Amino acid sequence: MELRPGSLDFSQPLAGSGPRTASTTLMFPRPVSVAVAGLSGHIVGFSGDHHFGRCEIRLETSILGNTVTVIGTFGLRDWSNDWDDAYSGTIEFVVLAELEPVDPGSMSLRMDLSIVDLELNQAVQFFRSNRFLDSATAMPDNSIFMISSKDTGVRVYIDWDPTGGLPPIGRLTGSLTVRTGTRTLTLLPINPSGSIVPHRDSNVNQALTNDTLNFMIPGPACVGTITISCQLFDQDSPDNGSSGAFTRTITFAALKPLRIYLVGVATTSPGTPAPDALALIASLTRVRKMFPQGDIELTGLTTITLDQTITGCGTSCSDAFSRLLDLLRDLRGGSGDVYFGGLPASARAPDDLQLGSSATGDRLASAFIDNSLTVAHEIAHSLGRQHAPVGGVTATNPDPNFPQYGSFPDASIGVFGFDPVTNTVFDPATVLDLMVGVAIAPESAWISPHNYRGLLSPPSEGGGVPGALTLREGRTETLFLRMTIYRDGNVKFAESFHHPAVFQGSLKCEGRFSIEFLDEDKNVLDCAPLSCACEDGGCHCWPKSIRQALPFPKESRWIIVWDIDTKIHEEQIGDPPRVRITSVTESDDGILVTWRSDPKKCWYLVHWFDEDARVWRGVAPRQQAASFLVPDRLFVRSPRLTIRILATEKISTGYAECELHLQNYVGPQITLNLIGFDPRIKEPQKSSGVVRVIAVDPAGRGFPANGAVWYSEKGSELASGDSVDLRQLAHGRHIIRVVVRAARGKPVSRSWLVERDPKGFIVHSAITDSDSQDTQDDRQHPSQSDQDQEEL
Ligand SMILES: [Zn+2]
Repeated sequence: MELRPGSLDFSQPLAGSGPRTASTTLMFPRPVSVAVAGLSGHIVGFSGDHHFGRCEIRLETSILGNTVTVIGTFGLRDWSNDWDDAYSGTIEFVVLAELEPVDPGSMSLRMDLSIVDLELNQAVQFFRSNRFLDSATAMPDNSIFMISSKDTGVRVYIDWDPTGGLPPIGRLTGSLTVRTGTRTLTLLPINPSGSIVPHRDSNVNQALTNDTLNFMIPGPACVGTITISCQLFDQDSPDNGSSGAFTRTITFAALKPLRIYLVGVATTSPGTPAPDALALIASLTRVRKMFPQGDIELTGLTTITLDQTITGCGTSCSDAFSRLLDLLRDLRGGSGDVYFGGLPASARAPDDLQLGSSATGDRLASAFIDNSLTVAHEIAHSLGRQHAPVGGVTATNPDPNFPQYGSFPDASIGVFGFDPVTNTVFDPATVLDLMVGVAIAPESAWISPHNYRGLLSPPSEGGGVPGALTLREGRTETLFLRMTIYRDGNVKFAESFHHPAVFQGSLKCEGRFSIEFLDEDKNVLDCAPLSCACEDGGCHCWPKSIRQALPFPKESRWIIVWDIDTKIHEEQIGDPPRVRITSVTESDDGILVTWRSDPKKCWYLVHWFDEDARVWRGVAPRQQAASFLVPDRLFVRSPRLTIRILATEKISTGYAECELHLQNYVGPQITLNLIGFDPRIKEPQKSSGVVRVIAVDPAGRGFPANGAVWYSEKGSELASGDSVDLRQLAHGRHIIRVVVRAARGKPVSRSWLVERDPKGFIVHSAITDSDSQDTQDDRQHPSQSDQDQEEL
């Protein structure tokens, strides 16, 4: 007995006829003798407010060989008994199927065909590495562990003996059956045409993508422990028998998602607008593919303006990129997320050499977003990764531990990388690691096992210091120190704020300076080494620009700066400024807050409390004006928002807190978009074979789309989770639709018109649902054939 859950989609609101039908076909490993479908759940409703009258839900099954087709019928009317109200819903079912017994005689095993081994590769993997690496760098096959929710590539190594006297094979194909705890997927190869030319295993060239039969297990299925089973057969004559099945169990390790807050950066000279949410999200493509994270959690989105010209060669610590990192520091507030500032490509001068900037280990990164490799490079820096050294090229901040992989070039990725989304193999003989310190073309970079592993334990999550995680998880009163030390020993404090924060990372560039916090009686309370933030110019340049988040003892009254054992500066910490909020006025765009402080002349930071993450974040960089318009897009979960105004003259920080109430609150609005597809461009856009939906709320917070389900135009399930593999579709045009269940409120859905042709994949347009019944049909389904219309 086999059990298969599934669902049928009726989420498009329709009126005027009923009941409607949708169907889906499930595949089983052997012929099916009996099958029944049972209803396991349903969501039904009218688009408007109507009385629930008659609801019809029916499930039927029909068997053909090893497939079962489930036909669902669904209709909903109010008491008028007419089909005049738009209705929609989803039907969930379970199919119970009895399979024909295995007849050993009918299963002809091809003795000339076998599976030698499977390589499991989510970005990079050791496989047969003893054949091309030395003993210092080679590792056992598949020794890089599998990560939960990350698309998994399976390279199947085959052996075909053409001398066995069996019918020859021109095109070899196969199938991969994936059994998770709850469902079974049957996957087809992702090689072009779904097949490869068979060969002896001794002739395989790992560098050639199509010397192996490749599959992609979609990320949402890569959870817990799964069993995969592969079989090979002749694509043209499947009846000539198949190879024996090769079965393996895979266990995926669940990791914390990488939390990224996106900041679109507008520039004043030249005047360019900030990139929008879609462009910023698309720039994370390589982070998603190469980093050892299954999930990237978007914790929010905002925009800022950079008021300093980017000069193009960032060798000094007073350049525009350093200024940008300062702005990002203010926005981060008390959070430990990576803050990424994305610059528009149009702000870059043609001769600009510097494409991005970050402070190593500081969880702050910025880059022009047109090159997703630069974005990944800078974010990797911000998580502590240093430059992979290349002999003869002087790169700042080199990684002393980057290995020399066998006889491959310096900074080689060392082993074969794989991108299952595009079915691409990366060859260590020619492809360099993304942390190489010189500009290279994106297609010639990927990630090495060294940096893949390094990113698994970024500084804030241990950083190689045992026990650091538990010591630093909590929130500590933290001083965000801004200070400059000049060559002549002069020390200048800029305005610094202190407030509770989680550990945000640490800088690599340490020098000879240290700082002490002392109480009223000049007893030392705490001490810390100081690091210079401007490593781009090398750690040896002056002046030393200090940007550090330090635990700040509350009783501190004095700060002393030391140059080794020489006291170079002493600073008294005064009383904190007093702040009072004087007015709160709602306008069309948000709520205007004004305040007064004593002393009058202070620097201010406005923080908002992020209820989801339980942290305070900056609404904007620091300012000297005593008023701020809190934008209404921050009121997402409720009409209430807590803010606080921090004020400092130099170090001591006072604050006032208040709760704002938005009268014009509209509730959470979730928008769905495909990553990489801009619906405002009214032209077909190229796509990869796997499309991913991103659900964000007005504050730019990513909504977990794990519960999303994808459907075909017939209402049958294509995939579950945030992505769908279009390589399963036949050539031609299709409408794909995603339904995302929000935790509260109605499910949200959106459709796209996509096309698969021999050259690749195209997304033509996004199709927005309309509840109004007279905007149905043709305009919403421009591509559907007449036949499909009748089925609706
Ligand atoms: Zn770099």
